[in-house]
Amino acid sequence: MEILDGKKLSEDIKNEIAQEVAQIKAAGGNIPHLAAVLIGNNPASESYVRSKVRSCDQVGFESTLIRKDDSITEEELLEIIHELNTSDDVDGFIVQLPLPKHIDEVKVTLAIDPKKDVDGFHPVNFGRMAQGLPCYLPATPFGILQMIERYGIETSGAHVVVVGRSNIVGTPMSILLSRKAKTGNATVTLTHSRTKDLAAEVSRADIVIAAIGIPNFISADMIKEGAVIIDVGINRVEDETRKRGYRLVGDVDFDGVAGKASYVTPVPGGVGPMTVTSLLMNTLKSSRKEIYG
Ligand code: NDP
Repeated sequence: MEILDGKKLSEDIKNEIAQEVAQIKAAGGNIPHLAAVLIGNNPASESYVRSKVRSCDQVGFESTLIRKDDSITEEELLEIIHELNTSDDVDGFIVQLPLPKHIDEVKVTLAIDPKKDVDGFHPVNFGRMAQGLPCYLPATPFGILQMIERYGIETSGAHVVVVGRSNIVGTPMSILLSRKAKTGNATVTLTHSRTKDLAAEVSRADIVIAAIGIPNFISADMIKEGAVIIDVGINRVEDETRKRGYRLVGDVDFDGVAGKASYVTPVPGGVGPMTVTSLLMNTLKSSRKEIYG
């Protein structure tokens, strides 16, 4: 079994981006600028945003963090989005989810200018993705594609089972891998909580992509010998032996599948770092006006 080392791969990609930024700087060009909006004090969101800002520093991007407490009104947030949409200085921005209950996430997503939607969540980018047109790919599926491609995993003709159908991971992943494209051409089964015999579906997969949000849900007895296992889940489970009182685990029983799979992503250190790197790649594309001119 080989580890799909997202941490190392993301460092390699960040080094490539840093070299490009150095060239842009040397040529007197515009430094890519990513902004992040963080509402409230959700510890997981804080940690994701910290990591995004740190990654910007690492590659030489400019970054701006806009923090507001969760009493912010929807109108105030929409006004911030409007300012970011119209700012000449900001190439791309994200609004970290989840948002407080009184704010409509769909309305917020729709308010982001697709040209600056480096998370790739806006329906315009989603639709363009589905039709194979230039777009910002959603960050997590983009990171997974990079990982599959750079590890030379064959997807053409493979049977992929995606577990979980969220708009940001499972559904776009199923579309991307089934498309007639490089790192595509797979036969994809998209499963969810209403799937009748999930274990039977997963057991037929050459590649399993788990994005459910339930710790250690995919076990060794569910997978086929030699399957590629990509674990998107990030779940906090209590652990009194850790200083912070918890540890992170994925949706896959890593130790269990390790003896049976051909490749597995660890959690942490698998898909997570690749998601952040995708955001940087999308921001670089935006600053170069690669997608929308
Ligand atoms: P959501 O929480 O939005 O959705 C979960 C999906 O899992 C739903 O489609 C749901 O089905 C399905 N599901 C839930 N229970 C079962 C079950 N028993 N059997 C089969 N399917 C089930 O998913 P996200 O994609 O937002 O997140 C999934 C996980 O990935 C989370 O742990 C999250 O933290 C993590 N994540 C990690 C990222 C990274 O960068 N590594 C990025 C984004 C998310 P139904 O639709 O029927 O309700």
